Amino acid sequence: MSHKRSGILLLVSGPSGSGKSTLCRRLTEEGEAVYSTSCTTRQPREGEQDGVDYFFQTRESFKKLVEEDKFIEYAEVHGNNYGTLISEVVEHLEKGTDVVLDIDVQGASLVRECQSEIIQQALVDVFVMPPSEEELYKRLSGRGTDAQEIIDLRMKNSVEEMQYWNKYTSLIYSGTHEEDYAKFKSLLIAERLKVSRLIQA
Ligand code: 5GP
Repeated sequence: MSHKRSGILLLVSGPSGSGKSTLCRRLTEEGEAVYSTSCTTRQPREGEQDGVDYFFQTRESFKKLVEEDKFIEYAEVHGNNYGTLISEVVEHLEKGTDVVLDIDVQGASLVRECQSEIIQQALVDVFVMPPSEEELYKRLSGRGTDAQEIIDLRMKNSVEEMQYWNKYTSLIYSGTHEEDYAKFKSLLIAERLKVSRLIQA
């Protein structure tokens, strides 16, 4: 008997600086999932590539994408617009490919409410909690890419965002990168074993 499997949508949230982006990148580099590249109106950071880290947009081009219904969800985060493209997610799930989604708490709540059956069946959500506010501040300021006022804004928003951890099915308290990654990947592996995800070929 052979089976195909439907794709999993691994949604991860957590404050900027919780290390979640690094976890997502590693999972995709190891070929375990594809990364859903979001659109954003924020300026690229040094080293970021258009089409890889984000699809960088102007306010106008972002608005056009909204009007054309291209997004599963979109939200304003830290004063910029961010959105998940349907095309980055649904086609992969249909082919049985797992997709990892790095979005904020507002976006996560919109994905949970979205009417698409394939997304609802695929959804697995996890919140990554930084070890402490002090450590978070160190990580945010240690990036060396953001101005002080941006760091302060991100810090304030992060503390607010941390209150939403209990909306998620799973929680990872961030420790070392290796510990976090082992937990993150095992969530995906466990989901793949579920009989409910199998489709008889
Ligand atoms: P950053 O500017 O540091 O790359 O991301 C800032 C925040 O925006 C992070 O919490 C990240 O998870 C969130 N984010 C990135 N892409 C999206 C998206 O498509 N939708 C939503 N709602 N949030 C996003």
